[in-house]
Amino acid sequence: MHPTLVAAIDVGGTTVKAAVYETAGERPELVAGSRTATELSGSPAESVAYQVARLVGELTAAVGPVRAAGVVVPGIVDEQAGIARFSANLGWRDAPLRDMLRERLPVPVAFGHDVTAGGLAEYRIGAARGCASAAFVPVGTGIAAALVLDGVPYRAGGLAGEFGHIDVGHALTCGCGATGCLEAIASASALGRRYAERTGLPAEGSLPVIEAAVAGDPDAEQVLGEAMAGLAQGIRILASLLAPEVVVLGGGLFSAEGLLGRVRALVDEKLPFQRKPELRVAALGDEAGCLGAALLAADLLVGT
Ligand SMILES: [Zn+2]
Repeated sequence: MHPTLVAAIDVGGTTVKAAVYETAGERPELVAGSRTATELSGSPAESVAYQVARLVGELTAAVGPVRAAGVVVPGIVDEQAGIARFSANLGWRDAPLRDMLRERLPVPVAFGHDVTAGGLAEYRIGAARGCASAAFVPVGTGIAAALVLDGVPYRAGGLAGEFGHIDVGHALTCGCGATGCLEAIASASALGRRYAERTGLPAEGSLPVIEAAVAGDPDAEQVLGEAMAGLAQGIRILASLLAPEVVVLGGGLFSAEGLLGRVRALVDEKLPFQRKPELRVAALGDEAGCLGAALLAADLLVGT
């Protein structure tokens, strides 16, 4: 058996990414990987635990046995208790997923939260490498934040980091029922939805809105401008409260450097004395969750 091979599984609402990594070096190296549709039938936690075990079995049959597995899932996750508290997409509540996975997998299992694991990967080997305090903010269907403060991930039992649901001062209603949430104005899905509402034109996610804004469409520019202002307001709150050295922004929205520059200018203009966080684009893309899961699994091997 290779001493440093681990399995890493990132369970999403629609897709499960499974991979085997070689973890001898600082950065896990991908050995093999697969993407399959998330299978949900009967008990969602049972069905996910079963699917993860099957995928690990398939990968190890192809590349050889692994020493440990890291499994990360979305929603509210209490890693210390090993419990997946809640996921709207996967439909579980208070599922003892860590124990369920340990029963089904033949190797030690590290269990974690997808965004936190992605943030850990950006912190250790990605865009926030070398910083003591950082916030990782993936902007996708929703908006969350993974916080590393003075070198330690801050979790509060899985309840911290609801960055998408801070009030950034608008009147729109969020999916959570509150008004003013960052997510309701700045998530990729909010951009598409708001543009479609204004224009009657279909827009799925942020990309068509960005393209229309670049082409000079005033409705797209308005929607995008409000999203950037909301994000800047959120980041100013983070800066005042936690003073991260760097805020790493993920998701397709920031592949255009121009947008990052706009948010940076908006953030900086209203931070008269606070530390102005450096804004960086995420380095690891949608592999961040899997890389984080691999790092969690590799951490189990330290000292063994
Ligand atoms: Zn909300």
